[in-house]
Amino acid sequence: MTVRVRFRGPELDRVVEVEVPVGPRKLTDLLPVTRALSDELTAAAIASEEAAGRKISCRAGCGACCRQLVVISVVEAQGLAELVAKLPAERQATIRARFAAAVRRLEEAGLLDRAAPPGQRNLVARNVGSVEASVQDLARRYFAQRVACPFLENESCTIYAERPSVCREYHVTSPAERCSSLFDESVDREPRTLRQACRSAKFHSRWLWNGPR
Ligand code: SF4
Repeated sequence: MTVRVRFRGPELDRVVEVEVPVGPRKLTDLLPVTRALSDELTAAAIASEEAAGRKISCRAGCGACCRQLVVISVVEAQGLAELVAKLPAERQATIRARFAAAVRRLEEAGLLDRAAPPGQRNLVARNVGSVEASVQDLARRYFAQRVACPFLENESCTIYAERPSVCREYHVTSPAERCSSLFDESVDREPRTLRQACRSAKFHSRWLWNGPR
């Protein structure tokens, strides 16, 4: 069915129509819906930034953000697992080998708990005073390892159409070269309107997955 969703905020008032599958579905079947919402709102937010004279500096061939700690939802992780399982055997082996290499690097750096069973390993954060500071410290230590996302090739995303929402939402207006020294240089991350919009998109994602409360 077609669902009309209205997003309203201080700088946003937009109606988006999305096609939602009906009947019993897996949660991952709804990922195209959240991607469509995210794309619509991201485009609106970018247009608004550009109208205000701020240009998005992200460009093809710049994959600095793909070496950050990219936090995705469990459903998105499941969607990526399904996507990998459908790849031809050779390609699947390449991607799986990259994941295994990334896990090894993170274990060696003390960022993943080796003692936990595979598939249940948590990132290891240090307590540096507050939750926010500890998360920031974890993100900095992760980025210092420069572990590329297994889907990154030639500094471009090989699953662009199916990339997680955080990847779709991440944009900067500062010079792109600063992103490779994130934490040392200031980076103007996604515009405020974009963040607001995507919060709304996440809210609606939850609504679509869980139903109204
Ligand atoms: S999924 Fe694509 S955009 Fe997201 S981190 Fe990986 S390579 Fe980058």
